[in-house]
Amino acid sequence: MKKLIVGVILFNSLAARSQITDAGNSENWKNIYRSATTKINDLANTKLDLRFDYSKSYLYGKAWLTLHPHFYPTDSLNLDAKGMTIEEIAMVTKGKNIPLHYSYDSLNLRIVLNRTYRSSEIYTVYIKYVSRPNEFTAVSPYLIPGEKGLYFINPLGETKNKPVQIWTQGETEANSYWFPTIDKPNQKTTDEISMTVPSKYLTLSNGLLVSQKENKDGTRTDTWKMTLPHAPYLLFLGVGDYSIVRDSYKGKEVSYYVEKEYAPVARKIFGNTPEMISFFSRITGVDYPWPKYAQIVGRDYIFGAMENTSVTLHEESTQQDARQLLDGNIWEETIAHELFHQWFGDYVTTESWSNITCNESFADYSQTLWNEHKYGKDAGAASIYSDLRNYLEDSANAEKPLVRFHYQNVIQAFDAVSYQKGGCILNMLRNYVGDSAFFKSLNLYLSTNKFKTAEAQNLRLAFEEVTGQDLNWFWNQWYYGTGHPKLDISYDYDTPGKTAKVFIKQTQSGPIFRFPLAIDVYQEGGKERFKVWMNQLADTFSFASASKPSLINVDGDKVLVCEKTDHKTMDNFIYQYKNAGLYADRREAIAYCAKLQDDPKALDFLKKALYDQYDGLRKFTLSRLDLSKDSIKTELEPILTNLAKNDSKTLVRAMAISLLGQYKQISLKPLFVKAISDSSYSVAGNALEALAKIDSVTAVIMAKLVSLQPARGELETAILDIFSSYGDESTYPFIYNQFIYASTNTKFNTVESLSKIVAKSKNAEQVKLGVDLMANFRDGLAPFQRQFGDRFINGFLNNILSAKQAAGLTDQADYVKSKLPQSDK
Ligand SMILES: [Zn+2]
Repeated sequence: MKKLIVGVILFNSLAARSQITDAGNSENWKNIYRSATTKINDLANTKLDLRFDYSKSYLYGKAWLTLHPHFYPTDSLNLDAKGMTIEEIAMVTKGKNIPLHYSYDSLNLRIVLNRTYRSSEIYTVYIKYVSRPNEFTAVSPYLIPGEKGLYFINPLGETKNKPVQIWTQGETEANSYWFPTIDKPNQKTTDEISMTVPSKYLTLSNGLLVSQKENKDGTRTDTWKMTLPHAPYLLFLGVGDYSIVRDSYKGKEVSYYVEKEYAPVARKIFGNTPEMISFFSRITGVDYPWPKYAQIVGRDYIFGAMENTSVTLHEESTQQDARQLLDGNIWEETIAHELFHQWFGDYVTTESWSNITCNESFADYSQTLWNEHKYGKDAGAASIYSDLRNYLEDSANAEKPLVRFHYQNVIQAFDAVSYQKGGCILNMLRNYVGDSAFFKSLNLYLSTNKFKTAEAQNLRLAFEEVTGQDLNWFWNQWYYGTGHPKLDISYDYDTPGKTAKVFIKQTQSGPIFRFPLAIDVYQEGGKERFKVWMNQLADTFSFASASKPSLINVDGDKVLVCEKTDHKTMDNFIYQYKNAGLYADRREAIAYCAKLQDDPKALDFLKKALYDQYDGLRKFTLSRLDLSKDSIKTELEPILTNLAKNDSKTLVRAMAISLLGQYKQISLKPLFVKAISDSSYSVAGNALEALAKIDSVTAVIMAKLVSLQPARGELETAILDIFSSYGDESTYPFIYNQFIYASTNTKFNTVESLSKIVAKSKNAEQVKLGVDLMANFRDGLAPFQRQFGDRFINGFLNNILSAKQAAGLTDQADYVKSKLPQSDK
């Protein structure tokens, strides 16, 4: 699973957090050990026959669950079933249904079997039920707050220009909202799902479509079958109006389900998938295990994406248009992440949420592996460097172990420790054991535990078997321990003794770390690598060196998960940029010199770094420039102008234009005007914003011109800003239209501009329309989006109310008031 922190997703994660906080400040959870669930019965097969009631957002289901006792004989079966109406439960014996006794409390279904069964005996229970996801809210530490499992999107078709869809989201334990099951990650089941839907819709589920039957009432029944076992949280169904674009991998179908207007660009978004499948199959030594791989885009999806077995669900911003894709596919890393889960998560599944890093660290690290393979070493290194920064960003992360046996709510385990720090730890491990041992160990872990579950110790055992080494020291520190070393690194050269020295001190408050270190000593003749172990709080490492080294580079491969205070000189850093040369080496040098831009030597270095071979570092250098000083501005103008016009990457050009905008210099106007017609939304949008700073009248004219074509991303933002800040009433229809036709997530970004013009508008009809649009958007949000969506939109309605009251427009003010809830006025 991948979380997303923009738009509506933000509201959901905030909602989740507030619900956890609301549960009180009790620290009791710290004493609760979150173990793997005891297995009494094991699922074997799940057969479902489902119909949907769009008018009520209900699902009418029949389930045939085939199970057997795990080891000990039992006469009972406990199932998870959230908020259902249970109509019938029976044991299926020789084609007959024998009614069974049961009790149900809206969460747990306790069934008394007709006799005691032994582990060798398979039995099938039939359950007839109604799923009513919007009418019940389950609260559990093992369920992400607000999750509903089954989502009806625009079910009555009331919102124009918004498709009618149904999709499901199981992880963590929400699939038991739509079918009774043992909703735990340490269960595995094969499945067969029949869905009866209006004939105009497509269906999608795990495995293969084995039959389609047209019914006389305008519906069709599709049956999907997954013959390989997978965890209950990975079962999925999707229903809607889609275009399917098909690719293949070794004869297996690879397909992309997108809304119709995105069919022409679907391959530009998802088209690397077959190559990714081939790459991941090769490095793991396990050929893609499932019968097909489909990817589908769902509206109002509550997370970023979800790796349901053989069918990944993506959030709607996956659907980018051709001009957006010129700036790069923002979703490619997510596509890799979810795909790698098909091995780490789906083929071998974490045995408990406490071990979720067994799924997520690998999915996270796949982004580095894919970038390195497809786009080169710098791109891979940039990916893992960004992971490290994500983890270090929040100091609270240093208190959380990778394997998390204690949490208040399971969502807390889906964090920058399980994901990003986990990815960094795998990267460190790969460097320590070497590529060939690393991938051989992954292969052993996958083949030993296939179609089963595993925990972090299974991974250790695989690495130990392959390398022949005891690796408890690594697992104890990095998987079960917390934090990371904080290093203070200083240097000395003993001239008479011809010895170079490095002093390294661990300054973290927690335990001392033990780790191997590569120290590279650079002299005239080249570099010499020394491999040492840091075992103590402080260590001194001495190296014979005929002259003072030009550079001593600690952690030469830049893989250690650490923070460091490195007492290098500017000369050392500049030397490091040129001679050590890894992404992190260069980035550290840029960051150091950027803090000393007044020094001509540093500025001179930054000017060179603006032409770094890797666009990520050109952008990083641009982001660090301080244009508040005239001397620096003057010095940089020719380079920024050159980058704005000529850089091969659109995002570098866009950033250079944005910086030139800060010059507020009329001589740059022709450059901006020309760039507004660039095919990249980022270049055009930034140019429009830059132009507005020196000539808002022309900016409005140009914005009107470009608004005649579809505009998204930075260009849409720029047009909305300019129209709502400098435009007159003639520009307002554009803002209304953008809002009306936007997807839910984009509406959240557009609502501010809309509120600004509604506040300013003198036209009573337009004001009423704007207020209605905002209120209808709020009221049309799905139940799980309401809590924070309401607060967000009512905030803007209140801004309009204040403006109307200040202008003495009582009628308009009253109208706004009528759309605000009592408590918000
Ligand atoms: Zn994931």
